[in-house]
Amino acid sequence: MQQIKNYINGELVEPYMGNYLDNTVPATGEIYSQIPDSDNDDLSMAIESAENAQQNWANTSNEQRAKVLCKLADLIEANADTLALSEAIDNGKPITLAKNVDIYRAAANIRFFAHACTQFSSESHSMENVAINYTLRDPIGIVGCISPWNLPLYLFTWKIAPALAAGNVVIAKPSEITPMTAYLFSKLCIKAELPDGVLNILHGTGPNIGAPIVTHPKIKAISFTGGTSTGAHIAKSTAGLFKKLSLELGGKNPTVVFADCDFEDTVKAVTQAAFANQGQICLCGSRIYIEKPVYEKFKKAFIEQVEEIKIGDPLEKDTQHGALVSQEHMLKVLSYIELAQSEGGKILTGGKQINLEGRCANGFFVEPTVIENLDNNCRTNQEEIFGPVCTLMPFETEQEALELANGSEYGLASSIWTNDLKRAHRMAKHIEAGIVWINCWLLRDLRTPFGGVKSSGVGREGGLEALRFFTEPKNVCIKY
Ligand code: NAD
Repeated sequence: MQQIKNYINGELVEPYMGNYLDNTVPATGEIYSQIPDSDNDDLSMAIESAENAQQNWANTSNEQRAKVLCKLADLIEANADTLALSEAIDNGKPITLAKNVDIYRAAANIRFFAHACTQFSSESHSMENVAINYTLRDPIGIVGCISPWNLPLYLFTWKIAPALAAGNVVIAKPSEITPMTAYLFSKLCIKAELPDGVLNILHGTGPNIGAPIVTHPKIKAISFTGGTSTGAHIAKSTAGLFKKLSLELGGKNPTVVFADCDFEDTVKAVTQAAFANQGQICLCGSRIYIEKPVYEKFKKAFIEQVEEIKIGDPLEKDTQHGALVSQEHMLKVLSYIELAQSEGGKILTGGKQINLEGRCANGFFVEPTVIENLDNNCRTNQEEIFGPVCTLMPFETEQEALELANGSEYGLASSIWTNDLKRAHRMAKHIEAGIVWINCWLLRDLRTPFGGVKSSGVGREGGLEALRFFTEPKNVCIKY
């Protein structure tokens, strides 16, 4: 059985204590590889290697850093087929999605920040005839990057790329549920001749290696993406340690459909927004509010569209809906479908586990599920399910739509579907979310700020925001 290794000081190494965890294929339920169950001993080695690499990397010119990172991006593209296949096996997502979105974006993330660091500049503030201030932005030193399982290589690189581009050395931990592409990525780092110790990748669980990374005194900043309760735990455990923290957390995103939308385009896009990656994208729109005059028409067209989604083996090129990431997660999603029914919800389509034939007979598949007749305040509409489950709710006025959309502890993303420009601007201004899409969804410009409000997180990633996060500003004031 394949054994994944940690990547420390430029080498692939066994976990210090020799302990491994099983790694499962979500589409078949089979254990197919093992990953290091790393702990404090592995972290100590990674810290030592990062400390040794720190000064040289910080002093490397932006151009040189950009060159190595671009080489890494090229290698991801050159190995896109293998990486996409590995992502589909490890995560259960359709291979076509893995290739066109996850792997393509992983390369794009790295290339984007390679170029961004050569364009980064800092501020200068003149005090008329008295003095001039300028801001130095230095790398922080050793930083920690922790990522989730839903977009494994994509979100891993989204953190690592700006951290490295800004001149930091990194200790990174991918999700223990989807470790494979981070492992393959460490092999590409060796090929790209990333200097030893600049990036260290430790595999393992949240408690055994995530928590020690987060609280280690030599790690000065933590960039975390994951669940809101884990984010809260990290915020508590680092209180008093005075680290920089970026927390990208859960979502329960509203989709608001007005009667004047482009109907057919909206139905298609809202279906995608609800069910892409089996609903396991933090940006998926799972609360769908529809203006009353088109509610019944939208419902009918939406259900038809949802029922056309091709469910199947993630390794088949035409599959649009693959497996959920684990049995545990599948059971959680199914328990929410039961809860929805006990709360009075009516299932319009889906609602059940799927037993495919052949290779995937024991996989973790759940039907795309649409539910109506639920109150905005019920648990189904308030808690993050993070699966192929969405609810439909009618509204009468723009004000009511806004209140329903904002009636959530989360505030990550939202989408609004209308041809009324003034209304679109009003809604965008008042909706409580870090990201508002008007007549589109998941359209991403890597320069834009990315993140959420309320329980969806603290801080922003993306573009210059990420480079600012991964640098320490210092003001220098010179008297004329
Ligand atoms: P999770 O919080 O369980 O785990 C995320 C990562 O944190 C994993 O690598 C895990 O091992 C690690 N971890 C767990 N406990 C830890 C601890 N005590 N200290 C340090 N690290 C710890 O989340 P998940 O189930 O992997 O991912 C799903 C969640 O991520 C959903 O809530 C989703 O909305 C969220 N998410 C948010 C964004 C965003 O950009 N806001 C993007 C993707 C996913």
